[in-house]
Amino acid sequence: MSQRYLVTGGCGFIGSHLVDALIADGSQVVVLDDLSTGQRSNLTDAAELIVGDIRDQDLLVQVSEGCGGIFHLAAIASVPKCTQQWRDSHSINLSASIGIFELAASLNIPVVYTSFSAVYGDVERTPIGEDDPKLPISAYRADKYAMELHASAGARNRNLRSFGLRFFNVYGQRQDPSSPYSGVIAVFMRLALDGAPVTVHGSGEQVRDFVYVADMVEACRAAMKRLQGHQAASAEVINVCTGKATSIQMLKRF
Ligand code: NAD
Repeated sequence: MSQRYLVTGGCGFIGSHLVDALIADGSQVVVLDDLSTGQRSNLTDAAELIVGDIRDQDLLVQVSEGCGGIFHLAAIASVPKCTQQWRDSHSINLSASIGIFELAASLNIPVVYTSFSAVYGDVERTPIGEDDPKLPISAYRADKYAMELHASAGARNRNLRSFGLRFFNVYGQRQDPSSPYSGVIAVFMRLALDGAPVTVHGSGEQVRDFVYVADMVEACRAAMKRLQGHQAASAEVINVCTGKATSIQMLKRF
């Protein structure tokens, strides 16, 4: 699938791994990132970096020139931050995403975007099916679920070809352990490497479905390949998970 791609949020934890994989495939990659949480140092020199905001529609039009597809990962990816900065995070996580859908539809190119497992609410059971009831009870989750609804509307009304991936709890290299919003595996790893005690909040019996970042990258690439295989409007959404529950206490024992 080598060609030119736009990756929004390509300096972030997951986006930078996706960029590495696309470059390894022989693709050209242009990254649009405002470096709000992403790091320039995450990005390989082989990718072109445009520092800017995905809310800037003129810039989006410019950077997508010659691209055969868009991977949209830029977001304020933190539940508490989205609650505190409600309107601002909404303008990035939903309004700018609609801008990207609109652009992809007008260029007739596919877009793969990231949703979130928590659209189902705080469910502890695994596995969770795609058609299970949704309970997006925070600003972040509401915007992620609304993205899926807009992608579906875009398919019906504007011939948009999109693929939404509901990411579960991702872990791997470049996840920032110093962030207060970081994943628990990155935090535990940092504490262990520092020789500090690993503290579990609550009973530790709460379970999560942890997925390695390389598997997320594979899911993104497979979704793009699928969209490139046809010209019909589509708005598929799938879970990207293992189906295995791991409790925080189990994690601590590793
Ligand atoms: P991240 O914070 O490392 O990456 C997000 C990137 O988007 C950063 O590089 C940031 O600088 C950039 N960005 C933020 N606002 C921007 C804006 N207005 N304009 C341009 N760039 C902007 O987060 P991540 O963990 O790599 O998450 C990537 C995607 O996956 C996000 O959409 C997130 O919601 C989703 N996701 C992540 C997880 C997880 O466990 N990490 C789980 C579910 C969904």
